[in-house]
Amino acid sequence: MSYQFDVIIIGGGHAGSEAASASARFGAHTALLTQRPETIGAMSCNPAIGGIGKGHLVREIDALDGLMGRAADAAGIHFKLLNRSKGPAVHGPRAQADRHLYAKAVGRLLKETPHLEIVGGEVADLIVESGRVAGVICADGREYRAGAVVLTTGTFLGGVIHIGHEQTPAGRLGENPAIRLAARLRGMDLPMSRLKTGTPPRLLRATIDWEALQEDPSDPTPEPFSRMTSHLANKTLSCRITHTTSETHEIIRDNLAASALYGGAIAGRGPRYCPSIEDKIVKFGERESHQIFLEPEALPGHPGGDLIYPNGISTSFPLEVQKRIIATIPGLSHAQIAAPGYAVEYDHVDPRALQPDLNLRGIKGLYFAGQINGTTGYEEAAAQGLIAGLNGARFVSGAPPLILSRDQAYIGVMLDDLTLQGVTEPYRMFTSRAEYRLLLRADNADLRLTALGATYGCVGSARLQAFIRDRDAIDAAIKEGSAATLNPAQLKQAGLTVSQDGRKRSVMDILALGQTVSDWKAIAPWYTALPRRVRDHLQTEARYGGYLRRQAREVKQLEAESDLVLADDLDYAKIGGLSLEMQERLSRARPTSFAAAQRVPGVTPAALIALLAHVRYAA
Ligand code: FAD
Repeated sequence: MSYQFDVIIIGGGHAGSEAASASARFGAHTALLTQRPETIGAMSCNPAIGGIGKGHLVREIDALDGLMGRAADAAGIHFKLLNRSKGPAVHGPRAQADRHLYAKAVGRLLKETPHLEIVGGEVADLIVESGRVAGVICADGREYRAGAVVLTTGTFLGGVIHIGHEQTPAGRLGENPAIRLAARLRGMDLPMSRLKTGTPPRLLRATIDWEALQEDPSDPTPEPFSRMTSHLANKTLSCRITHTTSETHEIIRDNLAASALYGGAIAGRGPRYCPSIEDKIVKFGERESHQIFLEPEALPGHPGGDLIYPNGISTSFPLEVQKRIIATIPGLSHAQIAAPGYAVEYDHVDPRALQPDLNLRGIKGLYFAGQINGTTGYEEAAAQGLIAGLNGARFVSGAPPLILSRDQAYIGVMLDDLTLQGVTEPYRMFTSRAEYRLLLRADNADLRLTALGATYGCVGSARLQAFIRDRDAIDAAIKEGSAATLNPAQLKQAGLTVSQDGRKRSVMDILALGQTVSDWKAIAPWYTALPRRVRDHLQTEARYGGYLRRQAREVKQLEAESDLVLADDLDYAKIGGLSLEMQERLSRARPTSFAAAQRVPGVTPAALIALLAHVRYAA
């Protein structure tokens, strides 16, 4: 039996769900073909969305009308703005989610999407005709034909689970791996290798000495991820904090040979920034203790409501050793394990085999997104899925792809990093990966992307209208806030210390000072009436407007000079303003053009500006 679609998405994880939604929002007749539709939106590991860098991705997905922010708001049970004490560029919104509600929200949003059909089945083969993808074949022989296919197989391609020395073919605990599809891709001579990731055991909440442990409360007035969320419906829950002890470390050291990771069973590299507990003890041996956050998996009474996720102790030890480790942790001496921790090893494709639009080079219409591209994390997967799904749909309709640049979005930074530099270990997003952090804030994602998304066909009219209202409100507030109407007496009354030059000041001037205003109502009542996101935006504009404009100018300048030729014998040591590290990086790479210099890994925008000034004016 053969079925016809415009676009087929393989896999209903975080990448696949966003890909399917984006493709259907564009108007393409889309099939989301996944092994077990009842697992759509499943969080394989920690029940949390966002964080530093990752929160930026969620806001960008939301600005492009994706699902993740709305689902996280619908499921959120504990919210935190990470890095709150630092500047707005590195604020990281994060929410812990009720995993049952999260999957339900993703499922509901997909079901409400026109042009989208969800189909159960294991894809075993790809149909490729004359260098173009033409469809897929399921393990049971069903054939689905389409002009574009997006592969989002996560940890399932050739997946093997490790618990101690026990190995089981699986993509996730209790779920079959994709063996035939892995063999098909290997047969296509794609550059592939193995990576691994791991998860901690889940604990029964009733067996934890919960009240004795330090409380970690949710933020009192959390802000939703999504512009489309008017209020957060769920009651918030507190987490608890505990830590490993010297006894924990001793058990780990004594049993290293029994762990899959250190017993030699796992060849794939794991995520550097989410190491297993055995990794932490071996690599950071000097540390006396490691923090563990005990996070509820769901609201009481919901499926998983009796389970706790101990964040920070993912492991591949045998169950017996896991039990002994848990018993050494304060508050967990009687804790029972409901499901063991494990590691999973899987195939991934070197993302340098992809074009920046996520189309596989050499096969038109075949896109890859998510963990299959060597990334780790729900947010990284979802962001890639959105781009791949949209571009698949655009390809079928003959429209050019959406490619975001490094100065437009964290999504652009990630795709540039992946497709240009590849990965040697699971890639996760951090704010430090972005050169233009002040331009790419979590709070201005909609200003950067929503109008663009509407032009490219992935933003619906409700979102666009909301965005236009916000943008108009911000423009009006900046105009009103820039008029210098406040006299020195009013400023003094509001408790502000400003130089006594007799000059009137504007609200923007006051915000730029960063001082606490005791009574905004007395001096600018209109300001207090603004929605929080508009006020936040005004504050950032007032404080960083100068830098923002300079960064924007630099971006334009760098773009305009791409064709500039760099001499073979250019002496980088003689360029004023270049650090030793930048001199070394550029001397080693010897780029032949300014465009090539921009691609040298680790070269900063400041170094590029210095190089440009030297070549243009000093050389
Ligand atoms: P997945 O969420 O894995 O979804 C893949 C989907 O594809 C599934 O629905 C599957 O059924 C379907 N599928 C696969 N093959 C086929 C096929 N042939 N036919 C039809 N359907 C198919 N991330 C972190 O950031 N930190 C961590 O510490 C962390 N630990 C993890 C630990 C474990 C044990 C696991 C399994 C994952 C962990 N992750 C972690 C990774 C996180 O789960 C992924 O980054 C994220 O889920 C990737 O999303 P995805 O959409 O690419 O793939």
